[in-house]
Amino acid sequence: MEKKNGRYSVAGNCLWIFRQQFRLAPGSFWMMALPVPLNIIIKYWQVYLPAFVVTMAVDNSSFAQVAGRLTVYSLGILAVALANNVMTRCVEGEKNLFRGKVESLLHRSSVTTFYQIFEKKEVRELYQRAHETTEMWDGMQPLTDLPKKSLLLVQDILCYILFGGMIAGVSPWLLLPVMAGPALHLIFTRRYNRWHQKMREQCADPRQKLEYVMMKSGDFTAAKDIRIYSMADWFVHTFHTLRKELDAWELRAADRRFHADFVAVGCNLLRDGAAYAVLIAMALRGALSVEQFVLCFGAVGSFAAAFGSILKGLGELHGVSLKICDLREYMELPEAEDAGTASIEEHLRTAPEVTFENVSFRYENAAEDTLRGLSFTLRAGESVALVGLNGSGKTTLVKLLCGLYRPSQGRILLNGIPIESFPRREYYRLIAPVFQDSRTAFFSLAEMTAGQIGSGFDEARAEACMRTAGLGDKLDSLPQGIHTRTDRQMTEEGIELSGGEMQKLMLARALYKDAPMLVLDEPTAALDPLAENAVYQQYRDMTRGKTSLFISHRLASTRFCDRIFYLENGRITEEGSHEELIEKGGEYARLFELQSCWYREDYRKDGENG
Ligand code: ADP
Repeated sequence: MEKKNGRYSVAGNCLWIFRQQFRLAPGSFWMMALPVPLNIIIKYWQVYLPAFVVTMAVDNSSFAQVAGRLTVYSLGILAVALANNVMTRCVEGEKNLFRGKVESLLHRSSVTTFYQIFEKKEVRELYQRAHETTEMWDGMQPLTDLPKKSLLLVQDILCYILFGGMIAGVSPWLLLPVMAGPALHLIFTRRYNRWHQKMREQCADPRQKLEYVMMKSGDFTAAKDIRIYSMADWFVHTFHTLRKELDAWELRAADRRFHADFVAVGCNLLRDGAAYAVLIAMALRGALSVEQFVLCFGAVGSFAAAFGSILKGLGELHGVSLKICDLREYMELPEAEDAGTASIEEHLRTAPEVTFENVSFRYENAAEDTLRGLSFTLRAGESVALVGLNGSGKTTLVKLLCGLYRPSQGRILLNGIPIESFPRREYYRLIAPVFQDSRTAFFSLAEMTAGQIGSGFDEARAEACMRTAGLGDKLDSLPQGIHTRTDRQMTEEGIELSGGEMQKLMLARALYKDAPMLVLDEPTAALDPLAENAVYQQYRDMTRGKTSLFISHRLASTRFCDRIFYLENGRITEEGSHEELIEKGGEYARLFELQSCWYREDYRKDGENG
């Protein structure tokens, strides 16, 4: 009921934002709502004051009487205006508090949304737009504009009833011209808002690309490549092209806004001219007393202003509400915990068995499946190596195993239970992966290893894991040892880890987690031969009592594993121990021969002799 054409309705969004205000910062609601009755009192007083003076003048009141009454009324109105100003001042602090809390929820969504959804380009664009709703942009901040504008609408409706009643008491016909002008205005405002929203969606792509280019041009890790491979020209050219595209859009938006404002002025002239003509004609005919004329003159202005403000407010509310849809959609993306309810505890105690049952996986918008009908079992406590050429689907398989993706077809079972039966966050406890592209560096070395901030973890164990992963010499060279910070972007004393050191740290983190399943995706790719050798030496120890999956391009390393799966085009085409696969003489044996020949004396000599 709340969603129309896949988007939330204006009323639904207003209710939602009020609920969020009450939940996160109730003061922000009250500071916005209390000025409503105060403003109405002030507006009424402004209309009533001239008629009040005229009435006293017609009654032949003395100067002292007029001055006395005016002073009392004015002091009253001053007190109201003062209270209003105090609230307007206080609302800023409350608005910031509300905004801060919503931003924190937004970031929470970013770090907990289901990975497969978070990875999509549309979701990145949605994030961009959702984030904009909390930012001051184009003179607006939709997050706080929506409650402010909807309360303003309530205020205008109350003024409309008040002044409309006063005018209708004199002549209902007066209401016609006063309502026609703003109605025309509304039609143009809505057209502009729809166009603006459509353009914003179209601009999300170049805007995101521009941000990417700006980020990458300032990214230190890309600095060497940019200079040596002459990419600077590409950066400058791409920046200019995208900037030109966005500038052209902003110019068009300004043009449209100018036209909309021009129409608004015309509509106001039409409205005021016609209404005042009717009033003057009535006064000339003697159908109105002087006080009535003065009161009505003021009421027409205020009624027209309220009516115009209602229509404008509705148009603006519609525009702001469209932006809030982005915020809501992003905040309501499926979270990590939203899946099943089964308990993982008993599966954490011993090495688990994992079965892929006819699993296929296709990336969104891809023409064909990346993994095709995979069926295999990782037996409890077994160590399996997964090998295959680039693009054969190894990393995709790992992401499925880790619960970061869900199969397009088939099932993955943990000890015979479909993995979607477990809450996702719980399932993540089962696996300690080392991804090949992990470059996460926050906090201190010890905190990174333990995956916890502060002091509530076992520092001695964190250090032991780092040493096992080959970081011993590094730790000894650092004055602050395991407490050295790795976030150079955040702190001055932070260190920059090399690719190999980072990989070791990621391995240490997996060891510290001590999950019953270890998944290593190219864990030695960035390591030097000594460090690589050390990992192989310790591999048996690391995987003892665990089920493990090991991906490596160095086929010699697969000898440490119980079984090898050879993946080709998303299918397991060969399976067995190293010796069995060599004997079989298939694709695995061919690759192994290709790799090992460079280490054989006879082959090198052959090569040298031509
Ligand atoms: P491997 O790890 O064996 O090199 P991957 O699993 O990374 O292979 O990739 C398998 C195929 O899936 C490749 O053709 C790759 O282009 C495609 N692919 C990988 N990630 C994505 C993604 N996020 N979206 C679309 N296609 C992807």
